[in-house]
Amino acid sequence: MKILFKGHDFKYETEATVKLFIPGRFEFLYDETNADGDIVSTQLKKGKHFTYLFAVCRIDGKTVRKSLKIASQYADEKTYEHEICRLVFLCLKKLTGITPPWGLLTGIRPVRKMTELIDKGYSKNDCFDTLRNQYMTSDRRLELAYQTAENQIPLLKTVDPQSISIYISIPFCPTRCSYCSFVSHSLDSARKLIPDYIRLLCKEIEILGKIVRDMNFRIDTVYFGGGTPTSIEASQLDILMKTLAENIDISKVREYNVEAGRADTITYDKLRVIKQNGAGRISVNPQTLNDDVLKNIGRMHTAQDTINAYKTAREIGFDNINMDLIAGLPGDTYDSFVNTLDRVMELDPESITVHTLTIKRSATLYGENNIKLFAESMTADMVNRSMDILPQKGWLPYYLYRQKNTLENLENIGFAKKGKESLYNIFIMDETQIILGAGCAASTKLIEKNGKITRIHNYKFPYEYINRFDELMKKKELIYQIYGEK
Ligand code: SF4
Repeated sequence: MKILFKGHDFKYETEATVKLFIPGRFEFLYDETNADGDIVSTQLKKGKHFTYLFAVCRIDGKTVRKSLKIASQYADEKTYEHEICRLVFLCLKKLTGITPPWGLLTGIRPVRKMTELIDKGYSKNDCFDTLRNQYMTSDRRLELAYQTAENQIPLLKTVDPQSISIYISIPFCPTRCSYCSFVSHSLDSARKLIPDYIRLLCKEIEILGKIVRDMNFRIDTVYFGGGTPTSIEASQLDILMKTLAENIDISKVREYNVEAGRADTITYDKLRVIKQNGAGRISVNPQTLNDDVLKNIGRMHTAQDTINAYKTAREIGFDNINMDLIAGLPGDTYDSFVNTLDRVMELDPESITVHTLTIKRSATLYGENNIKLFAESMTADMVNRSMDILPQKGWLPYYLYRQKNTLENLENIGFAKKGKESLYNIFIMDETQIILGAGCAASTKLIEKNGKITRIHNYKFPYEYINRFDELMKKKELIYQIYGEK
């Protein structure tokens, strides 16, 4: 597919709009030479008093055209960009028969738009009308965004400006799932790196401890994520968690998470270590409770293993457990997804996060044929079923985000029982809180009083993190430059 830009260069948003309908890569053209075959052609023509916008989309020989005339004095570049995307959207909707659930809303944080309107005092109807008119978002998604915003607004108001979150990354997994696009490393390939990684991660935690003291930060939430944090030994987890407690005052944290994750890594000893070191919220992630689908995605455990891990966590005393599910996995069906959902609800975790499968280029599953195969699945029905049944049973949507290359342009939704919402998840999505990250691929997010956000990215791969550790730590000086010595 080609995309032609004439008279403008709104490349990013136009491409994002086309991607709502057509997956894959695009060829960008700036004149009509080679403008043959399937194409999205866009044009902006400025006149003295009016500006004319055009979109012509052609797929398999069928063409749809749309145009718009805008009085120049009432418009700016942002308006032109939005309107060109709207024309492209309307053409492609007609040509493909697809109605993207979020309409023209392409960002990863649709709830923010809703929250902004609520904060301005708009009624629910006015919020819906505004977003419906501007983005053609479906009422079902507007309702989801509204409910999510309503559940998170009171929690966002509890953020103390001096409080921050800590993220610790353990980028190892027993094997790599076929849909994975993270920088996780299978234990077989990375085992020899683990001791050095743990040693340096402890050192980075000590450095963060000094920064926290120097800056007078108060720790609000802690999150051990990955990869799969429980893929390392119980004794190694113990060292890391103790190092954290010895170097950073976590006595006032409101939430301490460890993403236990995969059942094939969870043992009684590891859960005991996690509990004894003060973590109160863990994830035990089935993704699916269909054993055939687990095989399809390269998981080496069964559904029963997940259930056993969950029960062990309860026996040890965890009273805040999240379970992640994924809609749209290869080989899954609507009935099998509903069966997973029902069985997970029977287990009664405090929160259930429903992700939609996203296939990025670095995933083993990536490929045009695969994308087609999944796009024709019943993923939207699976997600819609979750949106209907979970709130009815007491799990309310409290955070959501979208990603690129997600099946049917859907979203990831965190549902939780009242009072069991994860603060870390809300804060990271709303970008309200400073996060200090440690470990491979962790990022540090610095937010200034004027809202400016600066990020420091740690190296992606364990060998880089180990070999260039000192160089990496130098980057942390930026924190002092931004906030100044206290
Ligand atoms: S458990 Fe998560 S991070 Fe690990 S391989 Fe699977 S998808 Fe990737």
